[in-house]
Amino acid sequence: MMKRFIGPISIRYMHDSREIEKNRPQRNIVDPNIPFHFLHEMEPDKDGNLQTVNTIFLTSKECVFKCLMCDLWKNTLLEDTPEGAIIKQIDYALSRLPEASVIKLYNSGNFFDQKSIPLSDYAGIIDRVKNFKKVIVENHAKLCGQACVDFNDQLSGKLEIAMGLETIHPDSLPKLNKQLSEEDFKKAANFLSSHGIDMRAFILLNPPFIIDEKESIEWTIKTIQFAFDCGVGCCSIIPTRGGNGMMEKLQEQGYYVPPSLNALEEVFDRGLALKQGQVLVDTWDIGFLSNCTHCFEERKSRLNQMNLNQKIYQSIACSYHE
Ligand code: SF4
Ligand SMILES: [Zn+2]
Repeated sequence: MMKRFIGPISIRYMHDSREIEKNRPQRNIVDPNIPFHFLHEMEPDKDGNLQTVNTIFLTSKECVFKCLMCDLWKNTLLEDTPEGAIIKQIDYALSRLPEASVIKLYNSGNFFDQKSIPLSDYAGIIDRVKNFKKVIVENHAKLCGQACVDFNDQLSGKLEIAMGLETIHPDSLPKLNKQLSEEDFKKAANFLSSHGIDMRAFILLNPPFIIDEKESIEWTIKTIQFAFDCGVGCCSIIPTRGGNGMMEKLQEQGYYVPPSLNALEEVFDRGLALKQGQVLVDTWDIGFLSNCTHCFEERKSRLNQMNLNQKIYQSIACSYHE
């Protein structure tokens, strides 16, 4: 199995954007004046103090990259985001959310792609977020430049940029169609930190082309370590899931294996034990990781508590499995 992605055969498994798009299921119907989702949550800051966070999932033009594992395009627009729409969306969400100290403006792509977030909306956005002490946006490492610095300079609060690092596995990363190398990430991180901009990294557990669970855990830990070495303050671990058509195809071919809850627990424990920064795991819709209904809720609740408190808690024993 492992040999499949070594040597000339691997060339056959470089997927391009056209093939990735061809395998997609239907997109959702979205409204450019309404965010497709928003929520209020708690998250610790780098000193461990819990902060209230308003997260707005903005509806904007689809990301220019077409990563193999991405399903964020489902809630995006095919055309450029109309001017003024992002401001309407922020107003819509904030009028329905309680107060918070941190705001995440996640747009399923790149905040500094002006076709997704028009430049003419920046002033209105800056005004809407003036009472938040931190503003977190997502952006591809290759699109981090002077616009980030200019935006940060105009904020009353501090800017944090969340970048997908995914994995530093030498076979997997180039095949994700992310058009990103370790060097690209490091360069962006150096640039942002030299301008006082905080960073978080999205890191995958079980990205495609790492099919052995032990190997996958090790590469997730190596990727967390790499992110911290680049000056990232927070690593957010995302269990790689299906749902975008391409991942189902890769699973059928044996190039993607869904992660287990055990694996997520192990990378979380080991990531926190590094004590080099915050580690969070994405617990949204993680039912697919579990094969035991008896302990799932308790284990998920342990992960949520660890997210909030950044401490390793006693693992959950279950007599129904292992
Ligand atoms: S860069 Fe991010 S949003 Fe864009 S396709 Fe890749 S994973 Fe999706
Ligand atoms: Zn169990």
